[in-house]
Amino acid sequence: MSRWAERQRAAGRSLALVPTMGCFHAGHLSLMRAAAQHADLVVVSLFVNPIQFGAGEDLARYPRNLERDAELAAAQGVAVLFTPEAAAMYPPGFQSKISVAGVSEGLCGRSRPGHFDGVATVVAKLFNIIQPRAALFGRKDLQQLAVIRAMVRDLNWPLAVIEHPVVRESDGLAMSSRNTYLSPDERESARSLSAVLRHVRQRVAAGACDLAALRAEGEAILQQAGVIPEYFEFVETATLAPAESAGPETILALAARVGKTRLIDNARLFGPDSSSPD
Ligand code: AMP
Repeated sequence: MSRWAERQRAAGRSLALVPTMGCFHAGHLSLMRAAAQHADLVVVSLFVNPIQFGAGEDLARYPRNLERDAELAAAQGVAVLFTPEAAAMYPPGFQSKISVAGVSEGLCGRSRPGHFDGVATVVAKLFNIIQPRAALFGRKDLQQLAVIRAMVRDLNWPLAVIEHPVVRESDGLAMSSRNTYLSPDERESARSLSAVLRHVRQRVAAGACDLAALRAEGEAILQQAGVIPEYFEFVETATLAPAESAGPETILALAARVGKTRLIDNARLFGPDSSSPD
């Protein structure tokens, strides 16, 4: 992979990278198409990164479908689908990690200790192997995007981090490889995540500004749908710090369990938002 990437760069062709864990859905494909606007050639990495899964998480059962993924990536014009083995990424003696403090600590960081170290470490490796001019990440994984932005800024990586809006199913559910875990009943309940984002955006547009009250309303909507909220937080875009009041940069971020499946979603509180489920 490094040699191929180096040859392309030497020939004057720039590279854009889309890191993924595979089981492609329309969100992934949209990122791949967007990547083509930022460089001559698109590289997609497909790696179910063991070090970003905690004990008891879904590493072993994470959906895998390499043949289908390869066809889908090729159909988007992707130049290379990079599918390293875990043993090649983490050979015996591997002992380094990248740890981004601050933005990795709240939200998902609380229930998934070490997760963002795993993400930052694998993305750092991919950046070094491929040396892209741009790398694309979905806003669906809001905190991951913030962690990568901080890492690139702090460590002076010479590349652009490009964010991509949340791609949704027609009923608003944010696309996710983990949606494949949902039974038909759970899939129905999962609509409540985007429904609650829509509800809160509408309430805010109508003048509601008491964040504690909006949170209580929102959590009640989730619970009525049989969905167990893990967090339901109003945060500021740049820092992911808790928002004191509803402002133009405030985001509602939530994680919830639908049966055994953990899903996340987020939307800006105000204004037109191509990521929102309106
Ligand atoms: P994953 O394979 O789930 O690790 O996701 C790979 C990339 O696709 C990450 O940058 C995700 O944020 C992004 N992504 C996943 N789902 C969506 C979605 N529904 N809309 C936009 N981007 C997404």
